[in-house]
Amino acid sequence: MIADDFDLFLLDADGVIYIGDQPCPGAVEAIHKLQKQGKGLRVLTNDSRLSRLEMQERLNMMDIHLNKEDIITVSWATACYLVQQGIQNVQVVGTDGLKREIADAGCRIVNHLSAEAVVVGFSENLTLFDIQEAIQSVNHGAYLIATNYDVSYPTPSGRQIASGSLVRMIEAVSGQKPIIIGKPSLYIFQLARNGFPENTRVVMIGDSPDIDILGAHRANIPGILVSSHPVHYPTPRDYRIPDAVIENLSSLFEQSFHLKFWQKPDFPWPSAIKVAVAALLLDPNRQVLLIKRKDNGYWALPTGKMELGETLEEAVMREVYEETSLRIKVKHLVGIYSHPSHQVLSYNSGESIQFVTSCFLCELVDGHLVNDQSEILESGFFHVSSFPQPMVSAHQKWIQDALENHDRTIYD
Ligand SMILES: [Mg+2]
Repeated sequence: MIADDFDLFLLDADGVIYIGDQPCPGAVEAIHKLQKQGKGLRVLTNDSRLSRLEMQERLNMMDIHLNKEDIITVSWATACYLVQQGIQNVQVVGTDGLKREIADAGCRIVNHLSAEAVVVGFSENLTLFDIQEAIQSVNHGAYLIATNYDVSYPTPSGRQIASGSLVRMIEAVSGQKPIIIGKPSLYIFQLARNGFPENTRVVMIGDSPDIDILGAHRANIPGILVSSHPVHYPTPRDYRIPDAVIENLSSLFEQSFHLKFWQKPDFPWPSAIKVAVAALLLDPNRQVLLIKRKDNGYWALPTGKMELGETLEEAVMREVYEETSLRIKVKHLVGIYSHPSHQVLSYNSGESIQFVTSCFLCELVDGHLVNDQSEILESGFFHVSSFPQPMVSAHQKWIQDALENHDRTIYD
């Protein structure tokens, strides 16, 4: 049975322990059983409205008794983050429970432009005025900190607005990307493991593939989905595929129930797919144009993103001109590359993007090589036998493809 496989159970609250004021079927009994077996048990919730104490009281009413330390609310996690970052003056868009948790951690709650950070939670009593004030503070230089990025959450009467909807409003108007504290971000999972030894067998149980299972898998923890429907994803590489699906927590004790462990692929889970182009440009001596990028220090083919209204061919000609001042023309397609193992790129912001890149064999028309100082450290034409290193390995393969499929002359 699944209960035997783990030492620490991280339980989502909404949809796993309760829905509204009602405990989920089997939840209270299962939690009592886990406690009797001496298992570690922590509640891990993105609900920013409640402080840990309020959550503890709420669970007590359902005959679930946990220590305050075992209740990891996103409000407390946000307070921990603020303290870690040395942020003192905080503007809070949310409930008194969220404000209390942040104040208890030693931060000052402020309501004006002196805020170093704006924390966005949720409260039924918020007004558009509160959102507008938050936007002003962010525009004034405050960090935008999202307790979570969930757009909505389930209630007995249907889905209700969650913090993420408000964060997106502030993000859209201010242009500022948020720092996200709650699931599926890594931060709250790291916090939830605190105090347990490295070799503790941890599992996350939640009802959202996009929040609970994705977050668990990012944190290298198996994820069990509570759902009455089977889930299907287009590829086995999908981080949201659970290691098991159960109808409710009582399934943890079913003898016949076992996990089918999901295999983590070799790339971080991307948040978007974008269309990109790459240029394989040969000079008259059949040498390949390579650039050394400022952002990662690697040598690479000139690449860039396709813009709205452009064709791929126009995009590749524009990118090369912008980066090197060389005018080129497109000869033919070398290949289209999409494998996430090579095409998911991570940025300093923590964001990962998957690119679908069309690589074109190109010819020089005119111009002199002048580097765009903002993006490029060095550039030059190199023979395939003497490519500078380190070089993006995928690009070496694309050049090889060009050789094998189209143009053997470049290896002469
Ligand atoms: Mg949930």
